[in-house]
Amino acid sequence: MFKKVLVPIDLNEPAFAEEALKLALREVEDNGAELHLLTVVPGFTNSFVAAYFSEKDHINAVKKIAGKLQDYSHTVMPEGVHPILRVYEGSPAETIVDYITSKEINLVIMPAHHRSKIDEFFLGSVSARVAERAKCSVLLLKDNN
Ligand code: ADP
Repeated sequence: MFKKVLVPIDLNEPAFAEEALKLALREVEDNGAELHLLTVVPGFTNSFVAAYFSEKDHINAVKKIAGKLQDYSHTVMPEGVHPILRVYEGSPAETIVDYITSKEINLVIMPAHHRSKIDEFFLGSVSARVAERAKCSVLLLKDNN
């Protein structure tokens, strides 16, 4: 039913994505969906942060993160499943929404923290912003079950 499924992966909390990946794999195994895993690196697009790093450090950091995403994918994917792995830079929610549009993703599955309104105000909520702005279906998995 869903041809292209995206699971955004926050590498700071990889275990958090477990349930989302299980559901995404159902779409892959039962319906032949194409699976995308996307990690967004937020730091370097901020000019203040970027000023402290050379271009070489920057490129190395992004390469390292791409390697981490690949290792993560190897450990969680069953044999024979090869998702499309991408590392982009930018603000996580906006970058995820742009990715959805440009790759014509049909379904995004992402875990959502159960945050208080205050925490949400200070920490932001990637899942809420993606759910609000994405044009495709969004499945948010809440962690209070
Ligand atoms: P919430 O949005 O529920 O408040 P988070 O902002 O920590 O909590 O993000 C929830 C989900 O958003 C993550 O599990 C992941 O799917 C996605 N996400 C957050 N940050 C990133 C990132 N840097 N790269 C990719 N996905 C991310």
